Amino acid sequence: MRIDKLLANMGYGTRKEVKKILKTGIVRVDATPIKDPKTHVNPETQEVTVHGEVVEYRQYIYLVMNKPQGLISATEDAEEMTVVDILEPDDQLFEPFPVGRLDKDTEGLLIITNDGKLTHQLLSPKKGIGKRYFAVIEGEVTEEDRKTFEQGVTLDDGYVTKPATLDILSSGSTSEIEVVITEGKYHQVKRMFESVGKKVTFLKRLSMAGLELDEDLEPGEYREMNDEELSFLR
Ligand code: URA
Repeated sequence: MRIDKLLANMGYGTRKEVKKILKTGIVRVDATPIKDPKTHVNPETQEVTVHGEVVEYRQYIYLVMNKPQGLISATEDAEEMTVVDILEPDDQLFEPFPVGRLDKDTEGLLIITNDGKLTHQLLSPKKGIGKRYFAVIEGEVTEEDRKTFEQGVTLDDGYVTKPATLDILSSGSTSEIEVVITEGKYHQVKRMFESVGKKVTFLKRLSMAGLELDEDLEPGEYREMNDEELSFLR
């Protein structure tokens, strides 16, 4: 990778700032001073130093966010604020992206990383990764709905969902439920309830691939995944 990108990713400043640092000649690759920002280095095999200090290279970033309502699950958007827009500039340097999508009005666990391989594993339909949601439903959720979800729900486009586990927490004119799905169809949970004649009025993801939402994170807060959480996902 280019030396300017590497140093910017490691928090030495913007590409422009890094260029200035390079000009001063304090950056060395395997002891040779490097001034050209376009120089390619292999951080796995070459030692990069700034003012004699070794640059510890880190390729990947793994974040867990409690996504707030109002942000879209994308890296950038011309009109709307995205989940990446609210990351610290140092974290944005890694060029992370959200793993899958939550609707603009959905809250809860969102994994944000720049690890494409892990993302692919988590989103691969073959893996059938479980995602658990809490939802508030307008209408009475019934035992019949639970059985329908268990058997697979026919959505508006004719697609029959894989079996989903529906746990009815409370039921009345407004109901509260938890549901586990193993797919990621567009607006899936909302459309599943529409198919049984009910409306989701609040949706929050509680877990993904066994990784639980850290309830200490307020909506809009995020942190780095710890090693235990990461080893869990791999
Ligand atoms: N299902 C939905 O309908 N919306 C989401 O954001 C996630 C799952």
